[in-house]
Amino acid sequence: MKNKAQQMIDRIMNSGATYADIRLHLVDQTEHISIMKDTLDNYSCQNKVGFGIRVLYNGAWGFASSEKLDLLDQMANKALSNAKASSTFIKNKITLAPKNIHKATYITPRKINPFEINLDEKINELVKISKSLSHPSFEIWNVSSAFYNRKILFLDSEGSEIEKNLLEVNGSLFLNAKDKDSQIQRRHYTLPHDPKGTTGFESILSNEFSGQAETLKSQLLQLVVADEAKAEVCDLLILPEMMALQTHETIGHALELDRILGYELSYAGGSHVTLNDFGKKQFGSKKLTARADATNANSPGSTGFDDDGVEAQNTTLIDQGILVGAITSRQMVAEANQLHGKEIFKKSGGCSRSESYNRMPIDRMTNINIDAGNDGNLEDLISSIEDGIMVDSAKSWSIGSNRENFHFATEVAWKIKNGKKGPLLKNATYRADSMPFWNSLIKVGNASTCKQHVFFTCGKGQPNQAMRLGHHVPVCVFNNVQIGK
Ligand SMILES: [Zn+2]
Repeated sequence: MKNKAQQMIDRIMNSGATYADIRLHLVDQTEHISIMKDTLDNYSCQNKVGFGIRVLYNGAWGFASSEKLDLLDQMANKALSNAKASSTFIKNKITLAPKNIHKATYITPRKINPFEINLDEKINELVKISKSLSHPSFEIWNVSSAFYNRKILFLDSEGSEIEKNLLEVNGSLFLNAKDKDSQIQRRHYTLPHDPKGTTGFESILSNEFSGQAETLKSQLLQLVVADEAKAEVCDLLILPEMMALQTHETIGHALELDRILGYELSYAGGSHVTLNDFGKKQFGSKKLTARADATNANSPGSTGFDDDGVEAQNTTLIDQGILVGAITSRQMVAEANQLHGKEIFKKSGGCSRSESYNRMPIDRMTNINIDAGNDGNLEDLISSIEDGIMVDSAKSWSIGSNRENFHFATEVAWKIKNGKKGPLLKNATYRADSMPFWNSLIKVGNASTCKQHVFFTCGKGQPNQAMRLGHHVPVCVFNNVQIGK
């Protein structure tokens, strides 16, 4: 297959194309298991094998894909003719930033491959966790898992030859109950990924996942009798699961270069960031350093190489409050530099990703992380707050179309008065304009406060592509935030 694909690329290049690549998804398995109230509720397993070919001709992309591997030549012709047709309409010719050429293999480190253990064993383990979540006063309790195993071969006309075997293990816990005012209260938890750990079924069995049941149950039982968080302006301490969403929506999406260039305006929205901002815009207080880091192997955002064949990187996005980088692909880097009239980005950040063989890669988050700070552990941070509120776990989110403002609701909150944490509160919300909010970051917890949470369904692109990625973030404290309005 490799030889045939290489011959196809050579033929396309001989027809006048300036670039061509192929992604062959030789294995693309997904298995979902959902246990509702201790009973198997939903099971699905699929293997989505196929290939996608991109061709660049006279500055325009053409793309074609098929699940039938014997249609390689027909799809190559189709991609080429699509590119030729597109080239008659485009105003600005697409070019690609240079890259290193790799002949390499990347394999996600794992211990127990969930596709190599039997289904009954997986179901039994999940039912065991489900039972530990149950309570007579709960409406619903659910445990679900999703496993992904992909073997991908990438070849291009520049000499790249990359084989990837990517494994992902994701899990989530969910429970809800009616509170004293007949409102539904809920708790959920997604399996955190230890950046230094391995990806495998072992993470489902770990205390970080199954061991969370008692905490979640206890919090839900407190929520059903809890008072409402009141509207006020005070300090806001955000725990890592909520910090992951905060980072995702107001740093990650705001810094996707295609969005900054206006490519997502009709669907996922734009960005308040402009090309003039790089190197000088204050994006957060001096306490904020954020990065796009695909080098931590235990995350669905880490794939060794992106779908342009560019190596995984650790790119600084915000350096002590100054905007210095973006989430980039080869195409967008070249276009941004050309539009700006001088070089902003030296090279692609390796963030070109596609959901599947039948989608064009676009600029996507890898792992958008925040560096740990030096303001102590969680206890230190709580005891430093005179008047504040501590929140965790997103319940709902609403974000301005240019990521300029946001309004989030959280599942749990605790009032902090004179350094002491009070009882659990329900229905807490907070809102702010993104830039003043990040500029009001006053404390960042140390490494002991960091966790990496994973997003399963980040949506972007037309047709939509759901992407999975991680956020390794510390506990953060912000000054003067509007709560509850
Ligand atoms: Zn997203």
